[in-house]
Amino acid sequence: SQQLGTVLTSRVSQYACQRRTTLDNRNKIFTDAFEVLVEHLEFSDSKGPCLAFKRAASVLKSLPSTLRHLGDADGLPCLGEHCRDIFECGKCSRVEDLMCNEKFRTMKLFTSVFGVGPKTAEKWYHRGLRTLQEVVSQPNVHLNKMQRAGLLYYRDISRGISRAEADAVGRIIAETMHCISPSATMTLTGGFRRGKAFGHDVDYILSTPESGAEEALLLRVIDRLRYQGILLYCDYQESTFDKERIPCRRFEAMDHFPKCFLILKLDAMTVEDGGLQNNPEDQRGWRAVRVDLVAPPADRYAYTLLGWTGSTQFERDLRRFARLERGMLLDNHALYDRNKSILLPAKTEEDIFAHLGLEYIEPWQRNA
Ligand code: ATP
Ligand code: MN
Ligand code: MN
Repeated sequence: SQQLGTVLTSRVSQYACQRRTTLDNRNKIFTDAFEVLVEHLEFSDSKGPCLAFKRAASVLKSLPSTLRHLGDADGLPCLGEHCRDIFECGKCSRVEDLMCNEKFRTMKLFTSVFGVGPKTAEKWYHRGLRTLQEVVSQPNVHLNKMQRAGLLYYRDISRGISRAEADAVGRIIAETMHCISPSATMTLTGGFRRGKAFGHDVDYILSTPESGAEEALLLRVIDRLRYQGILLYCDYQESTFDKERIPCRRFEAMDHFPKCFLILKLDAMTVEDGGLQNNPEDQRGWRAVRVDLVAPPADRYAYTLLGWTGSTQFERDLRRFARLERGMLLDNHALYDRNKSILLPAKTEEDIFAHLGLEYIEPWQRNA
């Protein structure tokens, strides 16, 4: 702790984009507790204190060793008074109360369904519903298309996707895409690019060498997946991208590129080493997987790659750093220099870090 107290505190930045955060989290006991509090606040729609807990957890994830004493937190950014309980007893009583709380547990269950946010979960809870079985068997609960798919494939989707399964999905999409356009390319992004062994979905960027062909490519890929009989669900979002538009101040996870949120049918035979991961229904020979595809114009590829690689907290802090420390506005589409009034071009992620005057952070160091 002497080491933490002196060496670290002088170095830890308040911005995740100036920290290197690997998946080796030495303070999981604390960050898990913060994440419960964050979830609780997100269910009750109080965004303010939520961000403070997210920042605190993110700082802890970047530390090379476990905090042992309350004093270890002195001098670390984002770990104020509000965090004291958690350090004093690991899992503070508020966290333990929440874990047993019927409403919290039900909200957690309902929001774990693809297409169900806190508002819908709350509505169901107030109708007296407590289990997914009750939700599907209630005749007067209106479900949209996404929620119906989320409930239908709930067992598969909630199980998570292994790296081998993600690679199998990648081979299917790549083959499909290359039939349409041999010069098109595909890049793995999201949590798997950050080195995670499991994900809730697989994220890919599709891209064409010349700007303008990407939206048609994505539509044709979807058509072919449907023709192959493996498209279980598709929510297609057409492009609303405007190349003149300046990034906005407020953090928005959503971007304006053409994209789709899919559920694909993954055949066990296509997965290398051991087939489908630990599936009680393995005899079926397939599982459902969530897949996101985004197709930005070629000249915005680097911004999209940086934006979709995450983590969300890393993205948030990149944008906050750009705005507050550099007078620049960043999002998934562009970087705008407010002093020079220009959009800055970038071919690679390294170009963007350089524009921001930041040391390059590798994808596996962005698990903030
Ligand atoms: P997981 O393993 O749970 O999938 P993840 O980090 O890949 O973890 P995702 O929800 O897949 O999480 O999101 C990956 C990244 O893409 C995040 O940084 C997020 O901000 C970004 N992202 C997700 N959805 C969109 C969207 N609709 N528009 C723009 N960016 C998005
Ligand atoms: Mn993902
Ligand atoms: Mn995703």
